[in-house]
Amino acid sequence: MKLIHNRYQIDGVDVTELVEKYGSPVYVYQTARMKQQYEKMLHAFKDIHVRINFACKALNNLNILKFFRSIGTGLDAVSIQEVQLGIRAGFKPRDIIFTPNCVSIEEIIEGVKMGVRINIDNISILEQFGNIYGDKVPVCIRVNPHILAGGHEKISTGHIDSKFGISTYQLPHVHRVVEALNIKVEGLHIHTGSDILDVEVFLRGAEIMLDVARSFPDLEYIDFGSGFKVPYKPDDYFTDIENLGKDLTKRFKKFCKEYGRDLTLIFEPGKFLVSEAGFFFARVNVVKQTLSTVFAGLDTGLNHLIRPMFYDAYHQILNVSNPKGKLRIYTVVGYICETDTFGWNRKINEIREGDYLVFLNAGAYCFTMSSNYNSRLRPPEVMIHEGKEYLIRERETLDDILRNQVTIEL
Ligand SMILES: *Cc1c(COP(=O)(O)O)cnc(C)c1O
Repeated sequence: MKLIHNRYQIDGVDVTELVEKYGSPVYVYQTARMKQQYEKMLHAFKDIHVRINFACKALNNLNILKFFRSIGTGLDAVSIQEVQLGIRAGFKPRDIIFTPNCVSIEEIIEGVKMGVRINIDNISILEQFGNIYGDKVPVCIRVNPHILAGGHEKISTGHIDSKFGISTYQLPHVHRVVEALNIKVEGLHIHTGSDILDVEVFLRGAEIMLDVARSFPDLEYIDFGSGFKVPYKPDDYFTDIENLGKDLTKRFKKFCKEYGRDLTLIFEPGKFLVSEAGFFFARVNVVKQTLSTVFAGLDTGLNHLIRPMFYDAYHQILNVSNPKGKLRIYTVVGYICETDTFGWNRKINEIREGDYLVFLNAGAYCFTMSSNYNSRLRPPEVMIHEGKEYLIRERETLDDILRNQVTIEL
């Protein structure tokens, strides 16, 4: 988003006009930014076979999925519904990895029927899977290397109490099951959490994985998951993908040589690809001076953007309507009847009632975590693609809230 002559633009589209056209609040996504991020990853790993699978749960609008398919990514799906969305968006089944956690064997069987790659994260299901399919359907195994990392305990998955993956200490048991049931293990997977800045953490994870990989002779790929950090605050950083690429490429090449075959390296980023490409616009309903602060009360709340309340996430907030106004201190809150504070003590250009504010980094885990709490309607989604805007989801109506309710006579 650029400020040109006092007006914010996204790829040449005037932001205020956009919000006025589609109404507030509204999510806006910029595909050019997504493509840039994808290309950054490809470039960092250009010397090895690399596949980037977009993590569907970050942003699941069908048009976004189609866009990713069109630029050549695969898809990481964590539920059978995400698999179905992926197929509808035109992904080839073999370009989808189904990485569910604690789902039933029936859901896994559905995945097999749809032809997608299956990633198994516990020994019980691995055993049931082997009993049904033997070596007829290859699998990937999710390993938990017990690396402690990530921005928040809710998004850290590698710790000892984590429900994700099969512990590296249980590998003897995995091998026993794999050999007894003749299971073909085509891939190994780790995903240690989210918001990990340090390249060292990824390299440590990789080291453990490559060590594990030596004992599986049928591998085609190793999936290093994701967890790349993106900058939420102005002085934050991205994980240094270029450097990770250099170090990991060297290490991976050496491994492939020892292994005797060139394997594919897979990543499955969500945030890295879409976080910065998303903008959430809302309107200021009221400026409320209390004894201790000045609240800016918006026409949205935790029903549309829950990350600040759920993960203590920081989203930068700008005043689109008064970009040159003098900076003042505000506490920005929602309209939900529950404390839904987007940010305390934020320095924002002077806010007047009716102004539009924008939340940055609203591409990942924002719309997909929205709800109808307080019987509020979910906002529309707009995509800016090659300089043109497209409405890709309509604003909900009351009918959407009533859709599955059954009326009985009382
Ligand atoms: C959520 C998730 C991702 C994406 O994580 P980001 O931090 O958004 O990049 C990747 N893989 C799996 C298995 C996940 O559950």
